[in-house]
Amino acid sequence: MLTTNPFDDDKLREECGVFGVYNAESAAAVVALGLHALQHRGQEAAGITSWDGALFHSHRAMGHVAGNFDRDETIRALPGRVACGHVRYSTTGETALRNVQPLFAELAGGGFAIAHNGNLSNAIHIRQELVRRGSIFQSTSDTETIIHLVATSTYPTMIDRFIDALRRVEGAYSLICMTPEGMIACRDPLGIRPLVMGKLGDATIFASETVALDVCGAEFVRQIEPGEMVIVSDTLVRSIRPFAPVAPRPCVFEHVYFSRPDSVIDGHSVYSVRKAIGAELARETLVEADYVIPVPDSGVPAAIGYAQESGIPFELGIIRSHYVGRTFIQPADNIRHLGVKLKHNANRALLEGKRIVLVDDSIVRGTTSMKIVQMMRDAGATEVHMRIASPPTRHSCFYGVDTPERAKLLAARMTVEEMAAYINADSLAFVSVDGLYRALGEQCRALGRPSHCDACFTGEYPTPLTDHEEIPDQFAMLEPVPA
Ligand code: SF4
Repeated sequence: MLTTNPFDDDKLREECGVFGVYNAESAAAVVALGLHALQHRGQEAAGITSWDGALFHSHRAMGHVAGNFDRDETIRALPGRVACGHVRYSTTGETALRNVQPLFAELAGGGFAIAHNGNLSNAIHIRQELVRRGSIFQSTSDTETIIHLVATSTYPTMIDRFIDALRRVEGAYSLICMTPEGMIACRDPLGIRPLVMGKLGDATIFASETVALDVCGAEFVRQIEPGEMVIVSDTLVRSIRPFAPVAPRPCVFEHVYFSRPDSVIDGHSVYSVRKAIGAELARETLVEADYVIPVPDSGVPAAIGYAQESGIPFELGIIRSHYVGRTFIQPADNIRHLGVKLKHNANRALLEGKRIVLVDDSIVRGTTSMKIVQMMRDAGATEVHMRIASPPTRHSCFYGVDTPERAKLLAARMTVEEMAAYINADSLAFVSVDGLYRALGEQCRALGRPSHCDACFTGEYPTPLTDHEEIPDQFAMLEPVPA
């Protein structure tokens, strides 16, 4: 099997998206629509759990939302007016059905379903303690730790036990939970991962991104604030603040790459921020060239911003085929290397003899950038200047994003000049951390408290990293069990 999407394979990948509906006709069908709009946040697996007033029903499967939730009989098997769902790309826990969310458990007080976007940075530490005390884990997902903490809490009500559990965990969590009493949506005190609330007639909706509200015809109400818990039961929507207040630190990479450009994250249009980053990039790293060329698709808004600010014409120098699936089985070894051209191809007629600025959102391992630069040179470009709409990614993420170990991040082991030579570009430059903050309409990072998590650029993590510090190989415990 060979991937035919070479430009997307060398990216940081978001772990998950969550979506919940309370009080809608065929809630599972609405959740399937919402998850479809969040597919970019996780393509490995999808799941929906519904509540029909008496029983919970669940369907979880490997693969995309379409294909797993596009049949009437699948949706009919998820009856009820309350449902939540999840799309997943794993960072902790192996690729296996037992890790696909929503996770569900029968607890004292009734069933409990949970869908989690983020990653707990002390889950292994807590898990070891729980296992010593007799808990039996069914998955290798960090999310299951929350279920066991709720199960073993001694507080009287489900809400109190849930709050008790969350006060013990560190890291990033945007959660949607279902109990027989109602639906709970909660964002960690720093608000690292996004979560919004919407309205569809009488139904209350929760979603990772506003685009999922748009797709199912719901109206945006507001974002769930960092540290806020919203509880919906019958016709009542209650908001509580169960954590000590801290300054929020939402993930800045949501603006750079993860979120869809048609979403609004923490009050910012993702598309506008990406264009503004491109304009900052042009001001900071201007170079003479004939065209600005985006790396599709995620480099497009920043390239537009770069072109508008610099006055260099924006052109499509790489054309994407929309008729190729994510993977394609190659019939013979001798044409395997041609697979990379199935999805993207250089626009030779445009590029021949031209100096180009190639704009991408990030460089992770550098393997993709090297291939794209070579593709531009093979098509006749005389100069290739690479411009990156984020600062160098030098540190791993522990908050729900798939990052290679630090040693594999190109920027962690090379200077910018060495990276330029490695990818064979005539020049390479990144937007500065302050430029990124200016694009968000905020003051330079150095002048105030950082308003976002930017740890993958700066190494300044906003929470303790208990598992990472105590267990140097963070994921050792969660590796697949041999067959
Ligand atoms: Fe986002 Fe980077 Fe912070 Fe992870 S480390 S939450 S990717 S800014």
